[in-house]
Amino acid sequence: MSQHLMNTYARQAVTFVKGEGAWLWDDLGNCYLDALAGVAVNGLGHSHSRLVQAISAQAARLIHVSNNYQIAEQSQLADKLCEISGMDKVFFCNSGCEANEAAIKLARLYGHNKGIDMPEIIVMEHAFHGRTLATLSATGNRKVQSGFEPLVSGFIRVPFDDLEAVRNVALHSSNVVAILVEPIQGEGGVNVPKDAKNYLQGLRQICDEHGWLLMLDEVQSGIGRTGTWFAFQHTDIKPDVMSLAKGLGSGVPIGACLARGEAAEVFTYGKHGSTFGGNPLAATAGLVTLQVIEEENLLEHAEVLGCWIRDAFLAELQNTPGLITVRNAGLMIGIELDRPCTELVKQALEAKVLINVTVEKVVRLLPPLIMNQSEAQHLVDVLAPLIKQFLSLKTS
Ligand SMILES: *Cc1c(COP(=O)(O)O)cnc(C)c1O
Repeated sequence: MSQHLMNTYARQAVTFVKGEGAWLWDDLGNCYLDALAGVAVNGLGHSHSRLVQAISAQAARLIHVSNNYQIAEQSQLADKLCEISGMDKVFFCNSGCEANEAAIKLARLYGHNKGIDMPEIIVMEHAFHGRTLATLSATGNRKVQSGFEPLVSGFIRVPFDDLEAVRNVALHSSNVVAILVEPIQGEGGVNVPKDAKNYLQGLRQICDEHGWLLMLDEVQSGIGRTGTWFAFQHTDIKPDVMSLAKGLGSGVPIGACLARGEAAEVFTYGKHGSTFGGNPLAATAGLVTLQVIEEENLLEHAEVLGCWIRDAFLAELQNTPGLITVRNAGLMIGIELDRPCTELVKQALEAKVLINVTVEKVVRLLPPLIMNQSEAQHLVDVLAPLIKQFLSLKTS
């Protein structure tokens, strides 16, 4: 590895050179099952022919023009995103943190427009919203923040999945303008609220009562990951603002901040911008991604396969001492152990399966939405014994 790369990642000693579907090949010709999908990015798997053809043709035609001009592909993607989400307007950027930055700026401007000079946003413990200064300040993880103080102010933190805590803030602070929350926390440990529907509906109700914006960070949970286009669609509420990225471009960087109703009118000319955001190449990748998810029925598939994988791991690991639980929302799957298990990432890699461990104790699986049943079986066949062996060798 080059000595000229900054030390920001603990990289595994493997270099992938080719991918197809749910499989990756390294430079020595070894083949791996990908149950991480570039951290929820490669929903269509690798080298999906529709995507490859569309972005190749787009690259040959036109890669980039400035947002000073009309961009047809960007307009089409905005229309499609609003059609499937029920939102009204979209701002395009290049990543999840940028989508959240847009949301945070939008909420502050919304506050200022209402005469609130020091607007505050409620955020959650164990949340992850990104690594820019504002989004790491919104993130509920001291490790992400430490060393970067002074943090951006204007965030009030409450426990996740606790409506009472949010109501309590309402009693004591008159500067709140919004709640920013992941419907299911990803980096924080695949945390699914105990009654996810009730939680989101409760947050919606509190926002309505106080004129706050409900802002959902669906950067990880969106684009089919949980078995609906967006995780909030498991309920009958809608957010005022929603951020997207990861799966949206299938690996071509694109992020989006969507807004609805009054929130959709907050940004006016000159208030926000992005040089690359929604350029013809990225927007084409987004459009094709949504088309393929629709045509291949991947929403339903993600729901069914996710539950199958969860149940298969539960069946295999049920009585294993050290297993806390297996939980999922579609193909966001967490296997929580009672002890740190980061070394499982390397062990799985040696067994030719790509996984992730988050918050040290949760094995996180984010398979591509196109993973099939026999691949899922292979995942369970390889990983369950590794976890069992790990738990039997290591005492807590
Ligand atoms: C990954 C992630 C982000 C940050 O996205 P980047 O593209 O890395 O900036 C923000 N929010 C959530 C929920 C994420 O999972």
